[in-house]
Amino acid sequence: MKPIAHLIELTESGMHCREGGFFVDPWRPVERAVVTHAHFDHTRLGCGSYLATPETALLMKARLGPDLHVRTLRYGEEIDANGVRLSLHPAGHILGSAQVRLERNGEVWVVTGDFKRAADPTCAHFAPLRCHGLVTESTFGLPVFRWPTADAVTTEISDWWRRNAAEGRPSLLLAYSLGKAQRILAGVDASIGPIFTHGAIEPMTRVYREAGISLPPTRAVAAATGRRELAGALVLAPPAAEGSAWTGSLAKASRAFASGWMQIRGNRRRRALDRGFVLSDHADWSALLQTVAESRAERVWITHGYAEELARFFKEKGLAAEALRAGQMAEEADA
Ligand SMILES: [Zn+2]
Ligand SMILES: [Zn+2]
Repeated sequence: MKPIAHLIELTESGMHCREGGFFVDPWRPVERAVVTHAHFDHTRLGCGSYLATPETALLMKARLGPDLHVRTLRYGEEIDANGVRLSLHPAGHILGSAQVRLERNGEVWVVTGDFKRAADPTCAHFAPLRCHGLVTESTFGLPVFRWPTADAVTTEISDWWRRNAAEGRPSLLLAYSLGKAQRILAGVDASIGPIFTHGAIEPMTRVYREAGISLPPTRAVAAATGRRELAGALVLAPPAAEGSAWTGSLAKASRAFASGWMQIRGNRRRRALDRGFVLSDHADWSALLQTVAESRAERVWITHGYAEELARFFKEKGLAAEALRAGQMAEEADA
């Protein structure tokens, strides 16, 4: 077997395609950046130019400023970058999220970016791709992480909200502001009561609606005038907002967190939460294995989370797998 050409190399600024002259989700400002999705750990400010899906471009502008120049590429559309054919394909992670497919002289590399394979009505479903070299994430790359179905989890969330509403208590649900919050909105039973969202969530939700994703009506929690208004409400807020002043009006609220990390029991207790809902926008263990198998990749590079562990697992199976230097990777905040 002839050694495969490396279309991606790891540099101090992140994943670099030297032939194509661009970086994928760079860690430092670079001339040309291809951005897989709009989470902060994947979007570096100060790059000369950006290439992303139209939905990611809208989200980036909503987060980083309307003047940001982003060239857009639809899923499946192809461009030529110095002889490297580049295309973006659904990653199923959040609205607009993409895998990056590179092809040169018949050699194909794919960078998954963050991805999941579970159902999510708020974004395009993950597209399996064949390649010679695969760069995959492994945020939850341990066998302990196996997700229940999203339907089962959103039903649990609705049941929890309904019970609290019947007691006149607000339901404060902590969830990441981009992706997770909107996925919850799309899944809950909005007939239970009003839904309020934190100021970090509302602008992201607006972009989802502009992109044609159907979500129930929401109001800014800052506009809620008093305790009575919030009594039977669902209030969505990012985890960072926990304990801030405005949660004071929610002193009596039942508090919950929706995250893949809730699969680890101690996490709920440590954060003094009433409930933990296991809902992740990342692939679980079996989805990671399925994705690597379906890619038929001869070489697998692993980033984020449990990269060393997942690389060891694949190496024992005889696959050329390697953990990318995790210390350099921006740590994940959107699990
Ligand atoms: Zn992400
Ligand atoms: Zn990420």
